[in-house]
Amino acid sequence: MKSIEGKVVAITGASSGIGEATARHLASLGARVVLGARRVDKLSAVTESITAEGGKAVYRKLDVTDIENVRAFIQFATEQFGAPDVLVNNAGVMPLSMINSYKIEEWHRMIDVNIKGVLHGIAAALPVFESRNSGQFINITSVADRWVGPTSTVYSGTKFAVRAISEGLRQEVSTTIRVTLVAPGATESELAESISDPELKKLAIERFRTDLLPAAAIAKAVAYAMAQPADVDVNEIVVRHTAQK
Ligand code: NDP
Repeated sequence: MKSIEGKVVAITGASSGIGEATARHLASLGARVVLGARRVDKLSAVTESITAEGGKAVYRKLDVTDIENVRAFIQFATEQFGAPDVLVNNAGVMPLSMINSYKIEEWHRMIDVNIKGVLHGIAAALPVFESRNSGQFINITSVADRWVGPTSTVYSGTKFAVRAISEGLRQEVSTTIRVTLVAPGATESELAESISDPELKKLAIERFRTDLLPAAAIAKAVAYAMAQPADVDVNEIVVRHTAQK
């Protein structure tokens, strides 16, 4: 696709699920993708498979909770392919639990990865976008950025925050920088693995067993937002399986 071909796209959380599918899809459309996450073995396998199919991809170990690490990731992307055109802030965790389980460490981890991780991505990429006078943030939130239910209190809180941050960012940046929010419904990925309560994990997996979107559906939404003319900013895309009410 012409509007995507050659673009440099940095993707956080690209070792599985939506991030991996996004890297694969954008590379198949001619983007040069830079994959980041903590599991280097997975990143290496995905990168190798993209390259074997003729795509352009590199990877770097990344922990989005560390601002210097995120800056180094953007710097690495720039050295490999040139300054990124797009940052997909996708890394996230979802250890659902009831508030009165007091899983304080998990609350902190969700805040650190889902909120601070996105802010770190903004802090690392915005100066690059501003100096080049163009760029696009694509922040992956969730339908939980506008919906709360029992066990999702903290997770939804982090996604509500990312939605607010994305809207504020959109209003503050120059007209040459685009900010897009992609809010997936239940999607095939490893996300439920982060639920530490075995009963809740079982429930979460069973609830959506047959009603999951393929991760590629979200990758296509990302590609759609990227492919629009430079002065068209797709602000939000919400994607749900038809069975998810
Ligand atoms: P996965 O668990 O498959 O992917 C999550 C990714 O985040 C992994 O690549 C993981 O890599 C990475 N990650 C986690 N912690 C860190 C960290 N500290 N630094 C860098 N990377 C990290 O789940 P999904 O693909 O589903 O999740 C992607 C995004 O989509 C998340 O933001 C999630 O909230 C959102 N989402 C998912 C939905 C779903 O139903 N699947 C629905 C709505 C939203 P590693 O462990 O190697 O670091």
